[in-house]
Amino acid sequence: MERNLLLTSFQDFGLADPISRALKEENYLTPTPIQAQTIPIALTGRDVVGIAQTGTGKTAAFALPILHRLLQSRIRPQSKACRVLVLSPTRELSGQILDSFNAYGRHMRLTSALAIGGVPMGRQVRSVMQGVEVLVATPGRLLDLVQSNGLKLGQVEFLVLDEADRMLDMGFINDIRKIVAKLPIKRQTLFFSATMPKDIAELAEAMLRDPARVAVTPVSSTVDRITQRIIQVDHTAKPTLLAQLLKQEAVGRALIFTRTKHGADKVVKGLARAGITSNAIHGNKSQNHRERVLAAFRSGEIRTLVATDIAARGIDVDGISHVVNFDLPNIPETYVHRIGRTARAGAEGIAISLVAGGEELAYLRDIEKLIRISLPREDRRTPGHRDSAPAQAQHRGGRSGRPNETVAGAKAPRRHRRGGGKKGHPQTNRHEANRQEPIRPSHGGAKSEGLGPESIQGVAFLHRESRPNIRPNRVQRPR
Ligand code: AMP
Repeated sequence: MERNLLLTSFQDFGLADPISRALKEENYLTPTPIQAQTIPIALTGRDVVGIAQTGTGKTAAFALPILHRLLQSRIRPQSKACRVLVLSPTRELSGQILDSFNAYGRHMRLTSALAIGGVPMGRQVRSVMQGVEVLVATPGRLLDLVQSNGLKLGQVEFLVLDEADRMLDMGFINDIRKIVAKLPIKRQTLFFSATMPKDIAELAEAMLRDPARVAVTPVSSTVDRITQRIIQVDHTAKPTLLAQLLKQEAVGRALIFTRTKHGADKVVKGLARAGITSNAIHGNKSQNHRERVLAAFRSGEIRTLVATDIAARGIDVDGISHVVNFDLPNIPETYVHRIGRTARAGAEGIAISLVAGGEELAYLRDIEKLIRISLPREDRRTPGHRDSAPAQAQHRGGRSGRPNETVAGAKAPRRHRRGGGKKGHPQTNRHEANRQEPIRPSHGGAKSEGLGPESIQGVAFLHRESRPNIRPNRVQRPR
């Protein structure tokens, strides 16, 4: 499925020129599966209900068609009104959605604002005073704004509900119902949720009119020809360990994943210091560079390639003997997707994950839950840090009354933690990383009992590689 969808280009959608230009600048080359499915339908004005998780590119899936349609009928929003209302469960996610709208709409003089809880309301009231085209909000604060006459909802033409299941988990159902009751009936609604249990389906049913249904199926199993090894290691010892592994192992081709572009460049430099030549591909490199490096990797001229998840999309190279997760991904499906790059065409493959303490241990648990395999750990941490507890405590909030609007993940039950984790600014256990120990020989890995290779080809998950800090109460106006 993915391969066919990769043939679709953003040009095929006929998006307005200011949007296409912004996409080029963002380095978006091919639409993700959820974008390929959603954008053409949403452009016709039809309601959409989508099952898609964070990391699949769903923000652009709803933002791009909405921006296009705003451009088609550019009317000035009335005072204290908005044309587009996006509801999201957390302050942090709301900020990121607003950033995405502003990035894609940067050539169209978009007006936008954020209404989130936990910060004084005065500035938010001022920011919508003259009316904005796009308002991204958490439900509780939005309702406060409306009830204090700071905002009117009668001009909303587009409603987006993002992470609907999470909003319900956080107890926002009544707020959402109250908000929807105040919206014009004639509007386009785009409704996204990672899961679709009965209560969410009922909510969607009540809010949407003849919606088109789109879905990307999460990947969940690994191939049984892949030997999976987990090596626990101090954060700063990772580069040395990586170099040693690449020297010790019988590497045909190795694909090394990092979570950030900066991280990829650092790995290349670290390997160079150890005498290993490698190349990086990521969003800051030109398309030309990417194609040259990939061709060299394919031909065997380059044996070691370092990539971010986004840059690695579409890499279709057989003969990758090793996949190394220099950083563990915070979306478990991404792990399955990454390691599926090895053991292609009936070959065997080895996947090695370097896991530092803190949040990476939590990511590992999520991965094991997804693939339903408990992976044996090889422990190469400095002895003093072996029992360190994960850095991120899990918070669970009460569900009575109105929920506190909070930063991503703080009130979310465990199944959603990965969404919050991805969007946040991960705090690695830096203190843990200052000591190194000699590398001990490794033990064998685990073979997974997967369902087969076809199950890993469903979805391309993407990572936000860098995000500006989120500042509350922003209003963006044309200069
Ligand atoms: P989302 O699932 O909307 O949070 O998106 C995850 C990340 O993927 C974000 O950093 C987006 O900027 C990025 N992204 C979304 N769509 C594309 C695309 N078609 N090509 C490259 N990156 C994308």
